[in-house]
Amino acid sequence: MSRSPSLPERPRLELDPDMTPDERLEALREHFTEIVEVNEQLTEQLDAARDRQSDLTDEVDQLERENETLKTSSLYIATAEELTDDGVVVKQHGNNQEVLTEVSPSIRDDLEAGDRVAINDSFGVKQILDPETDARAQAMQVDGSPDVSYDDIGGLEEQILEVREAVEEPLINADQFREIGIEPPSGVLLHGPPGTGKTMLAKAVANETDATFIKMAGSELVRKFIGEGARLVRDLFELATEREPAIIFIDEIDAIAAKRTESKTSGDAEVQRTMMQLLSEMDGFDERGEIRIIAATNRFDMLDRAILRPGRFDRLIEVPNPDIEGRERILEIHTEDMNLADDVDLGAFATETDGLSGAELASLATEAGMFAIRDGRTTVEQADFHDALEKIEGDDDASSVPVAFA
Ligand code: ATP
Repeated sequence: MSRSPSLPERPRLELDPDMTPDERLEALREHFTEIVEVNEQLTEQLDAARDRQSDLTDEVDQLERENETLKTSSLYIATAEELTDDGVVVKQHGNNQEVLTEVSPSIRDDLEAGDRVAINDSFGVKQILDPETDARAQAMQVDGSPDVSYDDIGGLEEQILEVREAVEEPLINADQFREIGIEPPSGVLLHGPPGTGKTMLAKAVANETDATFIKMAGSELVRKFIGEGARLVRDLFELATEREPAIIFIDEIDAIAAKRTESKTSGDAEVQRTMMQLLSEMDGFDERGEIRIIAATNRFDMLDRAILRPGRFDRLIEVPNPDIEGRERILEIHTEDMNLADDVDLGAFATETDGLSGAELASLATEAGMFAIRDGRTTVEQADFHDALEKIEGDDDASSVPVAFA
């Protein structure tokens, strides 16, 4: 620490009684000059002292803030798994430790199972975290029990069989695979046009196997989470391990696993890193336990072959647009709760919908209902289906974008 400068000596006025008036005047003048000089020195010192005081005040403020931060202990992140009469069961992220803990009534009212929470050293829930602040939560859609069953899917009997064999069996009968001594495929790839039921298939397997459904869209990883792709892929697998049994569904995988191009832009490098992370997660997959991966793409032709190597997505399942029986079944499924007039013949109508996807058929059923409502009726007639078809085909021509209902 710098020492304070010493103060200038105080000027003294010494007047001899024998001095003449002129001498006195001269002595007084000299004294005055000395006093002005000392005053200037003191003013300078005072300014310097004030500057120093202000620096020290800033330093004290900063130290106080640091002290505060050190005194408030960090909180751990956990997931509230179950709310019981005795408290809440939380699972800490990282070590997966599960504890039954207390929650203050003010937090308890807003807390729901599945919420991300901050807990202190004694596992007390201190706050509910906003899922929006978590890139992980934004990038991934987690569904503990999706409500899609195989019966809700029309016309994909073969595909359902294949998916059950490749994904459901290894989850349910892991021992059988072990006994026979074969490795179940770690992932299946569903490919086909948009809106044909690929997501539904993945959700249905998760539902039937009581697995958590975790969805991540490849296109979002590339568009929204720039620079975070590889980390989010790692997080995706980590989250699946926390929530096993789990089905990881990677939609639009072509966005991260497209064939390598010659261009060397930074965007490409980022996509490459994301894909390398995905491949390495899949390669280290065996130790992960009850997790299966289903990926989907509308652009099979674009995929990098590295992703299709044995041990990765070695089961390729094509999910095409539905044939006539499939279309009839999809129409039946989506009109199940509708009040249909006796004249409605879905079988006959299915012949007229060649080339439509499941999503388009679903939206066609809704449109038919809208026509009936517009007409002030409570039953839907065959003519409404024709009007709906005309509208959908018209929309299609106008925008060339398929009508899809998620
Ligand atoms: P995308 O490739 O665009 O992601 P997708 O193949 O994953 O599409 P889904 O999201 O599964 O398609 O389907 C969208 C909606 O279309 C479903 O919610 C459902 O209403 C309807 N649908 C699609 N296919 C079928 C089907 N085979 N049976 C019944 N409904 C279907």
